[in-house]
Amino acid sequence: MGTPEKTKQYVGRFAPSPTGSLHLGSLVAALGSYLDARSQGGRWLVRMEDLDRARVLKGSAGSILRTLELFALHWDGVIEYQSARTAHYAQALEHLTALGTTFECSCSRRDLESDSGYPGTCRSGPRRSGPTAMRFRVEDVAVRVEDRLQGPCSFLLRERGDVIVRRRDGVFAYQLAVVVDDALQGVTDVVRGADLLDSTPWQIALQQALRYATPRYAHLPVVTEPGGEKLAKSKRSVGIDAQAASRQLCEALVLLQQQPPAELQLESPAAIVEWGCANWRPELLNAVREVRAGDHWTSV
Ligand code: GLU
Repeated sequence: MGTPEKTKQYVGRFAPSPTGSLHLGSLVAALGSYLDARSQGGRWLVRMEDLDRARVLKGSAGSILRTLELFALHWDGVIEYQSARTAHYAQALEHLTALGTTFECSCSRRDLESDSGYPGTCRSGPRRSGPTAMRFRVEDVAVRVEDRLQGPCSFLLRERGDVIVRRRDGVFAYQLAVVVDDALQGVTDVVRGADLLDSTPWQIALQQALRYATPRYAHLPVVTEPGGEKLAKSKRSVGIDAQAASRQLCEALVLLQQQPPAELQLESPAAIVEWGCANWRPELLNAVREVRAGDHWTSV
């Protein structure tokens, strides 16, 4: 019998975009990733995804961090800001380019409006002069994602299309930055909202091209409005109420299907989070893609 392989220590992360205060959907993602990491003795990192300067709202990174602290979601290590890490993305892009896997694309969003994916228009060279985005050429293969919660999912990369890795305005794209950061930060487990499930095959393809390890994935349900509609951007700017941290943590636990006892609401945020860790049963989320916020959330 061989010696059992030592499993790598769990490293999880929460990666909010500082485009507003923490909202219910992001609280659920933060809590789910925190509980999954801590219940396995793992580290939990926080990374600010602030590359898109036009969408960043001044002060919101600080407000998100204060809210996490008030909700007893304490992180390990330093907070990384993607805006300070562009040298890493540039290096990865150079690497991809040296491998011959990228190409410049002059298509505007309008050019591509009618297509669901990217039809490969500029694969053999940009169609127009002027600023270009950089795309990663995907292969004609299926990528299987073994999601811990959503089960096995298969995606045809060609249907997803060649993914933008650097935008026309020079900003590195989320898909590239997230892959580089998760690898350089040693993230073993990505636990995030199911709205990003569709992005996962691109991220796996980029990891493979860059010879990074693929982390385990667990996609948590997306929180919708009480009526079932997507959580509106305008509502996202309405932060959750830190004065009601205990009640809101319990609501997030309910949305994560964890069945907390009613009296848990009377406890401190730290005690609630501790209950969550001790009782974390991710299997209760199996195949749950969407959960509805309680009615009172509309009136905020
Ligand atoms: N920054 C992304 C968001 O706020 C999350 C990225 C991720 O978890 O991979 O939606």
